[in-house]
Amino acid sequence: MDAENIVGHEQAEREKLIELLNSDGAVKEELFRNAREIKQQEIGNRVHFRGLVEFSNICGKNCYYCGIRRSNKNVRRYQLTDEQILDAARFAHAQRYGSLVLQSGEVESPSFTGRIEHLLREIKKLSAGTLGITLSLGEQQREVYERWFEAGAHRYLLRIETSNPQLYRKYHPADPLHGYQRRLECLHALKELGYQTGTGVMIGLPFQEPGHLADDLLFMKDFDVDMVGMGPYIEHPFTPLYRFREQLLPLQERFDLALKMIATLRILMPDINIAAATALQAIDPMGREKAISVGANILMPNITPGKYRNDYALYENKPCVDEEPDECLNCLDARIKLAEGEIGYGEWGDSRHFLKRRG
Ligand code: SAH
Ligand code: SF4
Repeated sequence: MDAENIVGHEQAEREKLIELLNSDGAVKEELFRNAREIKQQEIGNRVHFRGLVEFSNICGKNCYYCGIRRSNKNVRRYQLTDEQILDAARFAHAQRYGSLVLQSGEVESPSFTGRIEHLLREIKKLSAGTLGITLSLGEQQREVYERWFEAGAHRYLLRIETSNPQLYRKYHPADPLHGYQRRLECLHALKELGYQTGTGVMIGLPFQEPGHLADDLLFMKDFDVDMVGMGPYIEHPFTPLYRFREQLLPLQERFDLALKMIATLRILMPDINIAAATALQAIDPMGREKAISVGANILMPNITPGKYRNDYALYENKPCVDEEPDECLNCLDARIKLAEGEIGYGEWGDSRHFLKRRG
């Protein structure tokens, strides 16, 4: 194929993606059906859990969309103790969740690096090496990622948020701490170091068009990601982006667009892991189950101790903030069955794509 044809080919693929993202009625239903079938054929109906521990809302960054950004003085900052984090890990292990996600605001410091390294080793120890560990701790030096990998983390989630550098600038301060290039370099470093690498975007941001979202999907494909977590953008009153709220799609439409993104991605990348983002549930109580029925296969039950959940408010209306982890369990079991899924208890549920890529 000559260069012109390749460009033409890519353009046609982009157009097709935009068409799917704009689809409605019978065409949309057909998209959802296709995604469901492809998921069934490629990876089956098993849903894997990642117990999510939001262990601190202390953050050194100032992303314009996020409720726990550094400059939001209305946030009560908290930090779980090591013992509380390890208790959450014990809980995940006892419930046979298979994996854990450690997430927090972004902190870059030698003491933070050392603390995470210590926790990783302790979590491996308490679960006799059986609990899988995903980190979602933002941008870090390559050496830091390396140390954490050696200490037992094997998956990392770092959303690109938007793959378009101009849009990225609109959602972040123009300083070296918030550069698009660094984010991209971090993603490459994670992949090279051997992590199962996950990224994702927010859907329904101000200034974002279907063409941008189509480009986001192509970015994920070109980058050859192993896992994706993406969900609707939900405005937060104490953030700079809030002033553009009049321009946003209604919440229900953002939700619908997020489902179409998930379904389209499942067709584009049949064997990756796709998480049903919590933000979906903030809009529709059955949001995550709906995501599972159109292509998602990973669920991240929140196992942060209940009293801290209110303070990890990245966006408004975060679901289940009043519950304790053990209250979530029966609820989840029933919910997955509703989405015709089956829970892979005690399994890592690694991305098939990663296993194939590694060979
Ligand atoms: N500090 C880490 C991890 C916590 S934030 C990081 O930034 O990677 C995790 C994700 O929450 C972000 O990647 C972003 O996509 C999402 N998020 C933040 N604010 C949001 C909002 N207002 N609506 C929806 N998702 C949001
Ligand atoms: Fe901090 Fe992550 Fe929120 Fe940005 S998105 S302000 S890095 S917690």
